[in-house]
Amino acid sequence: MPGRKARGLLLVVSSPSGAGKTTLCNRLRDEFPNLGFSVSYTTRPPRPGETDGVEYNFVTQPTFQEMIARDEFAEYAMVHGNMYGTSAKRVGEVIETGRDLLFDIDYQGGRQLRHKFPEDVVLVFILPPSIRELERRLRGRGTDSNEVIERRVRVAREELRHYDEYDYLVMNDHIERAYDALRAVYLSQTHTRARLAALAEHVLSGQEQLL
Ligand code: ADP
Ligand code: 5GP
Repeated sequence: MPGRKARGLLLVVSSPSGAGKTTLCNRLRDEFPNLGFSVSYTTRPPRPGETDGVEYNFVTQPTFQEMIARDEFAEYAMVHGNMYGTSAKRVGEVIETGRDLLFDIDYQGGRQLRHKFPEDVVLVFILPPSIRELERRLRGRGTDSNEVIERRVRVAREELRHYDEYDYLVMNDHIERAYDALRAVYLSQTHTRARLAALAEHVLSGQEQLL
């Protein structure tokens, strides 16, 4: 909840590559500027237009391995042949401040975060209308080579099988409808009694209004 004293939410959004999760997550971040974004570490090379520290923190394989050895990741996994991981420090800081944090990570990462933070994690899976449409979107995006696109389409089926580990499914056929659904999940999850109990207690205590 922006600006309120509440327990922070860890909102995980996953999908096969090309289903539209970056587009949907960016819209959510635009509408809710207080929603933090977990910038992952990756060994994947930057795509044209990507900036170190913005979309990802781009690191070498040895650096990534050192970070694993120092236990610096809240979760990490190999996805499409590259390593990706979430900074444990950042997650810890955000949980303490009560801010909400958005993660664009795969099912392996979602599973690890749920295991570590069962009270705080909400998992949303974005479905493409079909595998064929997924491929069309990857080609239309124009950021990956033919070989990379073919690999991503091949593993899409494997990733889709994990939909049953998620709390919510959002079909991204029409972007507006999909965004409305994602927004509804976020808003409803930030208004649960468990998350806002501290707020109710504050009102009950008779103290001044919290900002
Ligand atoms: P992901 O982050 O899941 O890999 P992106 O958000 O990059 O996917 O979307 C892949 C491509 O599909 C982008 O070019 C995006 O503009 C497009 N796209 C996203 N949602 C839709 C939609 N509902 N209909 C058509 N194209 C879409
Ligand atoms: P891309 O290379 O297209 O940006 O991302 C490829 C896949 O890696 C996506 O499914 C994305 O959600 C996933 N991913 C990105 N960052 C992380 C992370 O920190 N951890 C995990 N487990 N997956 C990630």
